[in-house]
Amino acid sequence: MPSIDKALFQEFEAIVGATHALHQDELVASYTTDWTGRFRGHTPLVLRPGDTEEVAQIVSVAADAGIALVPQGGNTGLVGGSVPLGGEIVLSLLRLDGCEPVDVLAQQVTLEAGVTLARAQSHVSPFNLDVGVDLAARDSCTIGGMIATNAGGINVVRYGPMRDQLLGVEAVMADGSTISRLEGLEKDNTGYHLPGLLAGSEGSLAVITKARLRLHPHLEERCSAMLAFNSVQDAVSATAQLRHSVLDLQAVEVIFRGAMELVSDYISTSIPVGSDASAWLIVEAASTSDPTDQLAGAIDDLGTLVMDVAVGRDSASRAGLWQFREKITEAIATQGTPHKLDVTLPASRLAEFVSEIPQIVETVDSGATTVMFGHLGDGNVHVNVLGRGGLEPDEGVESAVLTYVAHLGGSISAEHGIGTAKKDFLHLSRSEAELDIFRAIKSSLDPEGILSPNTLIPYEHQ
Ligand SMILES: Cc1cc2nc3c(=O)[nH]c(=O)nc-3n(C[C@H](O)[C@H](O)[C@H](O)COP(=O)(O)OP(=O)(O)OC[C@H]3O[C@@H](n4cnc5c(N)ncnc54)[C@H](O)[C@@H]3O)c2cc1C
Repeated sequence: MPSIDKALFQEFEAIVGATHALHQDELVASYTTDWTGRFRGHTPLVLRPGDTEEVAQIVSVAADAGIALVPQGGNTGLVGGSVPLGGEIVLSLLRLDGCEPVDVLAQQVTLEAGVTLARAQSHVSPFNLDVGVDLAARDSCTIGGMIATNAGGINVVRYGPMRDQLLGVEAVMADGSTISRLEGLEKDNTGYHLPGLLAGSEGSLAVITKARLRLHPHLEERCSAMLAFNSVQDAVSATAQLRHSVLDLQAVEVIFRGAMELVSDYISTSIPVGSDASAWLIVEAASTSDPTDQLAGAIDDLGTLVMDVAVGRDSASRAGLWQFREKITEAIATQGTPHKLDVTLPASRLAEFVSEIPQIVETVDSGATTVMFGHLGDGNVHVNVLGRGGLEPDEGVESAVLTYVAHLGGSISAEHGIGTAKKDFLHLSRSEAELDIFRAIKSSLDPEGILSPNTLIPYEHQ
């Protein structure tokens, strides 16, 4: 990659202003290491544009000079896609933090890419509306980053992932041109769905600067329950029944034994039910009227499938149950730097997967520990592998786990994306014909490979 000489530096600085062109080591440090601490890059420059026009100018200058950029939002991504591993310029979108007035008639909102999820939630909540995707990184992750990773989270079972919330985008393309379609038409069959293409593109096709999101009625009445199970298969069967019988099902999360012990220690709170269980579900129903009877009836119908149940009706007791799920990522981070393998399995192979994985990992690295939890309503398991003493597990663990996922007909990335972490394994989930199409899209939209060249589908010079 060409280096940045003084003239080029000044050109970038003139676009964003001196205070938003960062190059001193201590100022760029937090932009070059990812949330997990596993991916550490380096950069000559962090640019913090204040609006779409500045983003377009930066990309245009970078394209002319052949300099690569990595778009970055809240830097909470878990697959190394948000940091400059090849010495790229970091394009931080955090200053694009404007929220347009909520369109109550259409139940939609247009937000700039750097708006955090928590801010978006509080912007729409006075109108009794909610953003369809919710996740534990809500205070830091941004709308742009969530679209770029097609984030999932705890409500996918009801509303789908970020792609399903997306009615339009404004984005700066790799040549510096801007596309914008933010009218929010629910029906618009006029060719290729570009927002859908950018959802999950991980910064490799365009820089998202604004998004038009579909909103959902805020469901004030909620009931949560923690269910303990003797076996993983029982938890999987119960999930299928609950999805069928609870019309207002909002979330079905799973915590497997090792993760439950770890989080219980971390939050210094004993496990509420089934201390010797193999798996726990945290289930939530949400509606405009009290869904307690609906959920309680469905849990009753599970009969002996369930060992024990704790119900949370008011917000304090619900939060008491949810903390076991929401604090797991932090609890694991206290043990070291895990390899995070976020995968989806067909429901019919899930129990087999959970039972085999610890053994598969130990065969490659006898000192490694496996901690698993996830979004069972979507068949999504987060496999966290910690090496001995919290260090990196042996090389080969990742390949062994992901190969097994592919063997069972699953996907090697459920919701975190491919980033840098999984790019060498993409062929396990995608055929050569599909990868050819990916490469054709990349080289057509970003012919010089200036956008995130080390992410998702590595850029190859023609
Ligand atoms: C505690 C915790 C819990 C999490 N829980 C979940 C979960 O339940 N479900 C889930 O799906 N994910 C989860 N994640 C990971 C998830 O990917 C991110 O939280 C979120 O989607 C990324 O948003 P961000 O703004 O931090 O993006 P970043 O980390 O900054 O970037 C992520 C990727 O998007 C690209 N990107 C960022 N902004 C833009 C933009 N404006 N235009 C183009 N490309 C861009 C980057 O280049 C990078 O490839 C979790 C992370 C943490 C730390």
